[in-house]
Amino acid sequence: MAKILITSGPTRQYLDPVRYISNASSGRMGAALAETALRLGHEVVIVSGPVPTEYPSAAHVVPVVTTDEMLAASQSWFAGCDGAIGAAAPCDYMPRIVETEKIAKTGGPLTLQLIETPDVVATLGQAKRDDQWVVGFALETNDRRFRATVKLEKKHCDMIISNGPTAIDSDVNDVELLDIAGEVVARVKGTKQEVADVLIAEIDRRLIRKTIASGK
Ligand code: C5P
Repeated sequence: MAKILITSGPTRQYLDPVRYISNASSGRMGAALAETALRLGHEVVIVSGPVPTEYPSAAHVVPVVTTDEMLAASQSWFAGCDGAIGAAAPCDYMPRIVETEKIAKTGGPLTLQLIETPDVVATLGQAKRDDQWVVGFALETNDRRFRATVKLEKKHCDMIISNGPTAIDSDVNDVELLDIAGEVVARVKGTKQEVADVLIAEIDRRLIRKTIASGK
């Protein structure tokens, strides 16, 4: 059996004490993956941004708010895990300056300067040991498959799941699973739980059992 880290949900990047930028990720895909993995007897740690979704009670949930916090928690838990699945939608940008007081309206436009946040999956992928694996998601509006293969390589993933913007805050998903060579090895359309069942079965067969069999 494996110990699996799942990143899930959105992160928030505050502009001032009350306002933040984020996205509508619900954490449902992460919760569904956790549910299936636990059912198969795996151990699950979920590093999650703020979500309305309830995670399975058997999972160990580590709550975070910002992308930096998600990275720090994921790095520290990943060391004791066999693999990681990046189902989160971390905020890719953060304000260069975070105001300590609420930004007052002036009647004019407000210009925000945003800088990139760290990429959690890419950082784990780059640092993974030979006996660890990393699976990412790629959410694209166009050139889905091509962009997914670019991310697969760039983020040092062992597999990547390509999906579209309709996945966000939805009960259903429509995905393609690409192996390390960028070949489409599975296509699934259905509820997030049905999709999770297929994805975890493939991860189990292609990554978990392989690692156990090779004794790494
Ligand atoms: O947003 P994008 O399509 O690039 O996300 C691809 C993968 O990278 C997903 O698995 C997502 O969880 C992960 N990611 C991340 N940290 C970020 C952005 C994306 O871990 N800052």
